[in-house]
Amino acid sequence: MSIRVRLMLQCGVLSCFILTIAMLLSYAFHTRSHYDDLDRILVAETTHIATEAANPANSLQSFNVNRGSNGLEIIVRLYSADGALRLSSPSSESLPLTDTKAVLRTPAGPAFDTLAALVPQLTGSPFITDGAFGLYDIAGQRWRAYILPLRQGNTISGYIEALTPLARLDASMRALRGLLLILWLIATTTMFFGLWVVASRVLYPVAQMTQAAQTISLSRDFSRRVGVPSHRDELGHLAQTFNNMLESLEGAYRIQERFVSDASHELRAPLTVIQGNLELLHRQQSMPEVERAEALAEAEREAARLGRLVAELLTLARADAGVVIKHNPVDLDGVVLEAFHEARQLAHGQILALEPFEPVRVDGDEDRLKQLILILLDNALKYTSAEGRVTLGLRKRDGNAEIIVQDTGVGISAEDLLHVFERFYRADPARSRDPGGTGLGLPIARWIAEQHGGRLTLSSEMGRGTTAIVSLPVKA
Ligand code: ADP
Repeated sequence: MSIRVRLMLQCGVLSCFILTIAMLLSYAFHTRSHYDDLDRILVAETTHIATEAANPANSLQSFNVNRGSNGLEIIVRLYSADGALRLSSPSSESLPLTDTKAVLRTPAGPAFDTLAALVPQLTGSPFITDGAFGLYDIAGQRWRAYILPLRQGNTISGYIEALTPLARLDASMRALRGLLLILWLIATTTMFFGLWVVASRVLYPVAQMTQAAQTISLSRDFSRRVGVPSHRDELGHLAQTFNNMLESLEGAYRIQERFVSDASHELRAPLTVIQGNLELLHRQQSMPEVERAEALAEAEREAARLGRLVAELLTLARADAGVVIKHNPVDLDGVVLEAFHEARQLAHGQILALEPFEPVRVDGDEDRLKQLILILLDNALKYTSAEGRVTLGLRKRDGNAEIIVQDTGVGISAEDLLHVFERFYRADPARSRDPGGTGLGLPIARWIAEQHGGRLTLSSEMGRGTTAIVSLPVKA
């Protein structure tokens, strides 16, 4: 079931429920108050006559039995103690006599229906309890009566009955019921229709977004955007968030595309050299020994570079796949020392110095940390001339361990510094003595630093050298 239908049904049913309750309650209170008023008038009439009858100065004939007010027809009848009719209003001839004792024995319930009986009386004045109400059906019409016994001392001297037809009130309540039913039907129909229109309007942007998303997923065109509604509501935010997501997807897709094309390009170059040299060796069997050795050495160099490239690509692929590195206590000073010794083989005349350092322990992966230091030392040596100097240091600062690799090499321009952490990015290779790099060292180094909860920063000055600082949290 669509959200639109669900929204319409849920809101509609709830509104209908509230409307129905409100209508039923107003009907019940309205009905009850009208019938209660009528009962109250009947009680008041009988009480009035009873007061007249209690006065010995008043003769029976002097009673005013032509009662009624506001167009209400009220008939009054006086009975003797044995139930014989003594006096009655003129219009009552056709009405059958009432068995007053029977009514007093078993009084009738209220004249209103069960629904009205469920609600409390609105005006709380109590009825006189000495008498009893009757409810008769005379010639297909309902009549309401109140019978009040007249007492002389402890004996009943007669009965007073006030009765009125309920036809008009019943008809008016029937009309009210009909009117409320028609109003209920109109209101609920309008409500459901209105809810349908509102839900359609509210969900229109969602339908648009869905369509745009479908088109994007089919065409893989991440440069497309969904329309953002002009009003800044939840749907506006959703559309904006969706567009932001598309933007980052587009970015990731472009990076991926470039990465694949760069990787294949990088892999092809050494392969071409190896293939060329092998073909040369194969074709020119009588090649001088020196040239042959040179061709073989070049092929070996390129094969090693290929191996390095594949290893680095693998590392980055693992990083992208979210592989988490091991976390063990590591004596960083030991790792720094090991890396220093290994890096000495990479030096080509430069002075490689180790600054004095103190023991520091961090949490992490020993091999990865060594790889990180070697990447930085390798870069420092690669981009520093034979007369230059490279220093490696380790210090504690602000609760962090800092590995510092400083060189007096060619340096990195401010423009290149912004990009050196991008995959395959290499500043002008002509600047270095023997670049041989892949452009993947620094991205890997940064990933390792971040995996250890630390960070890698580079600062450099053209022609004066570069300083790389790896800051790692110290293990408590
Ligand atoms: P590469 O394998 O090319 O060294 P990196 O990702 O390690 O790749 O470095 C990216 C680029 O940053 C290098 O091509 C180089 O131009 C520059 N770079 C890195 N370290 C240094 C440094 N110590 N001195 C000068 N340039 C550097």
